[in-house]
Amino acid sequence: MKVWIDQDLCTGDGICVEIAPDVFTLLDDGLAYVKEGATVYNPGGPSGLAAVASGKEDGVIESAEECPGECIFIEV
Ligand code: SF4
Repeated sequence: MKVWIDQDLCTGDGICVEIAPDVFTLLDDGLAYVKEGATVYNPGGPSGLAAVASGKEDGVIESAEECPGECIFIEV
């Protein structure tokens, strides 16, 4: 599973970070970005595609479902 965020649609509420802090992070611009271990994909968008670590998939799916901006995109 891989995941990316469209920051143009992100509201910055941080729900994804609360649900899956190992996968999502908020940066100083107030928007959420995906990360892979210590690597944060900034700039984000579709080219900032992070591989989801084993066991973290459910949190990513829940985040995408709860995301008010509908801007978390999962690729399998
Ligand atoms: S849940 Fe969606 S809108 Fe909220 S911070 Fe995360 S990516 Fe942005």
